[in-house]
Amino acid sequence: RAKGAGRARHVLFDDSLQRQATDVLALEHELRAALANEEFEPYFQPLVRLGDTRAIGYEALIRWRHPERGILTPDKFLSVAEECGLIEAIDWQMYRAACAAAIPLVKDGGFITLNISPLHFQHDDFDERLLKVTTETGFDPKNLRIEVTEGTLLGDPEAVARILDRLRVACVEAALDDFGTGYSSLGYVHRFPLKMIKIDRSFVDSLGGDRSQRSSAVVGAILALAHSLGIEVVAEGIETEMQRQALVAMGCVYGQGFLFGRPQEPAHYGG
Ligand code: C2E
Ligand code: MG
Ligand code: MG
Ligand code: MG
Repeated sequence: RAKGAGRARHVLFDDSLQRQATDVLALEHELRAALANEEFEPYFQPLVRLGDTRAIGYEALIRWRHPERGILTPDKFLSVAEECGLIEAIDWQMYRAACAAAIPLVKDGGFITLNISPLHFQHDDFDERLLKVTTETGFDPKNLRIEVTEGTLLGDPEAVARILDRLRVACVEAALDDFGTGYSSLGYVHRFPLKMIKIDRSFVDSLGGDRSQRSSAVVGAILALAHSLGIEVVAEGIETEMQRQALVAMGCVYGQGFLFGRPQEPAHYGG
């Protein structure tokens, strides 16, 4: 936990550290100021075809350009933003900035993805609001995908499915993020209109390691089910050429990870 002395007391902490109520209040205060100053912005990381490593799209990942502390990753502020009810406002600022910045990234086709916090699906007009952002920024919705987690699907499955259905009609496809970490079974995913499943990094991490066989079995099962349903599969967190090759050998077509590109400012990828 960072404790600055004097007038400006900046309190930032990782989720793992014990937090005091006063620290949460201080961070909440900073988050409100950051919203007013529009300090939230997107970095982009490519999703690639594993065969030739060419980008098929980019994931927008939120960053906080803190006036004193520089660029902050979501682990420094997202859970508090959720707790104090600011995540939705922060997300909307981020989504707008991402669409505005990404127009050059998709000029030759391809897509960007936005990470959608589960709370948004409590609003039945989430799809309308999202499409309004595309209209206002001039971003073509057919170049937009959203990423939702298993927890989101389990919340109120019918309400979520309705919103996802309407978004698909508007050409905004959905991806299931961090797959394998939650509680949903493979048999559950067919109920939702999903274009893509992203296999969590934890399974990719152990490919080639001690627990390689178990991970391979899980990845293989996800690939078989997804492909039988016509769903694309992306493996997350690929860091080594050995992992890339193992995934290609298993029939995984798409991937993402530091091996291909880190999250970067839009200009890095031609934005
Ligand atoms: P995620 O959606 O699963 O995003 C992938 C995370 O893994 C990113 O962390 C990315 O930088 C990191 N990553 C990518 N490739 C590799 C790799 O090869 N190795 C390793 N070790 N890590 C890799 P980041 O940017 O810190 O984002 C963390 C999480 O914050 C995201 O996980 C997502 O759940 C959430 N998030 C990001 N942007 C937004 C946003 O705009 N709104 C909301 N609500 N959540 C967001
Ligand atoms: Mg994601
Ligand atoms: Mg993910
Ligand atoms: Mg993840």
